This record gives sequence, C-alpha cells and structure tokens, in this order.
Amino acid sequence: TPAQPLLRLQNVESAYGPIKAIRGVSLQVQPGEITTVLGSNGAGKTTILKTISGIIDPRKGSIEFQGADITAQDPAAIVRRGLMHVPEGREVFALLSVRDNLIMGAYTRSDADAVARDLEQVYAYFPILKERAAQDAGLLSGGQQQMLSISRALMANPALILLDEPSLGLSPRLTKEIFEIVVRINRERGTTILLVEQNANMALNAADYGYVLENGRIVMEGSCEVLRNKDDIKEFYLGMK
Ligand code: ATP
Repeated sequence: TPAQPLLRLQNVESAYGPIKAIRGVSLQVQPGEITTVLGSNGAGKTTILKTISGIIDPRKGSIEFQGADITAQDPAAIVRRGLMHVPEGREVFALLSVRDNLIMGAYTRSDADAVARDLEQVYAYFPILKERAAQDAGLLSGGQQQMLSISRALMANPALILLDEPSLGLSPRLTKEIFEIVVRINRERGTTILLVEQNANMALNAADYGYVLENGRIVMEGSCEVLRNKDDIKEFYLGMK
C-alpha cells in the first residue's frame, strides 16, 4: 500500500440543521483503486460524497486530497484539482445534446487534442452515446443518462471520481454492464473511484476495499474479498443466510 492515500477523511461530521447525517467518518482512498462505501438507504452515503466535493461544509473533521487540505473549499476549486462528482440521479443537461454534455465535462481543460481523444475513448466505452451524440440528453433512457453522467465526469480527466449509486433505478442487466465499464475505466485509465452503493453485491465485486456505513458511522472496513466472506455482510447486505 502506498504511503499517501489520494483522499483522506478524518473524523468528518456533517449535519442538516439539527440532523446529524455523518458522525465522525474516517476513511482513505488509495490511488488507482476502487473504494466502496456500503450502507442502506439513509446511512449517510450521499452526504459523505457531498461533503468531499464541497457541496456541504462539514461541522468537524478534515478532508485531504492529493496531500492538500480541501475541507469546505468551493466546489469549483475542488473540480479544478481533479475531483469529479457523479451525483445520484445523474443530473445531465437535458436540453443540451449528448455531445455538448460531454464537451461541458471538459470545461476546465485547454488541451484540445487530448479532449478529442478522450471523447473518442468515452464513445468506445459507451457506443450508444456516439449513436445518440446529436440528440438531446433529456431523451436518453435512465441507463443511458447514467452512462452520460459517468462519461461527462471522465471528460475532465479526473484523478478521482465520486460515484453515487450508479445502480439506482437500473435493471440488473444494465447495472452489471455499467459496473463492468467502471472497472475497465479504473484498470485502463488508472482513474481512482470512490463508489457509494446500496447494491453490496455489485459493489463488493467491483471494488478493492470497502467500508460499511450505518447511521452515519463506519462500522466495518476491509478488503472486499474479506468483506464478501463475513457473515454479517452476507446476512445483512448480500441477502444470504
Ligand atoms: P440514499 O441511499 O437514500 O441516498 P444515503 O445513505 O445516501 O441514502 P443520505 O442521503 O446521506 O443517506 O442521508 C443521511 C441522513 O441525512 C438521512 O437521515 C437523511 O434523511 C438525512 N438528510 C439527507 N439530506 C437531507 C436534507 N437535505 N435535509 C435534511 N435531512 C437530510
């Protein structure tokens, strides 16, 4: 394991008014890996990602990215550092074409040739986006919008992607397809990924290292191989007895 994690949260607390959503979360993301945070509905997964990307300011704790303190920085400044957030529910620009959505993802870059190469690579990962390049993004299916949302983040050539519940609302077949491509992106491009998921089965198969979040606290962590074989995980998260 490398000495310095790409991302480090130390004792982070975030709240919505009086409601404490995360209560002292510490976690690390190693460069080149897929790290997952598992947890049921309302455990605080989305809040962790929003706190990292600067949408929510934490009440306590610190967040370091590439060795720099980014705690409570402006979201745009965090994006410029190479950290992209793919939110739950995708949020594509419905009235822009698929291609323009992808170009928007590259707005921080001035290396036009590399942007053009990345556009071709994204189309290679998700050929349907090339077929639909000229269509309004709002006309895509849910699964295609998820593909577009991931691809738009890739167009920034980020060091880290925060991926919020990519399986949400998708069929098992589409979920599997998207996870396979997320793993390929990680392996082929070396993009580090922090994935939050309710679908523990998919997440534990895709990721290297995992944390289990319950009521805003990390209750377990380990390599995904170890986690997959733990009785508690099998029973409560994988639905096995
Ligand atoms: P989900 O799978 O539903 O996204 P999650 O694990 O991502 O769940 P969060 O969305 O982070 O959980 O929510 C954590 C807690 O914070 C929950 O109790 C939730 O009700 C509460 N919460 C989330 N957003 C808000 C908000 N805008 N205002 C008040 N409470 C909120």
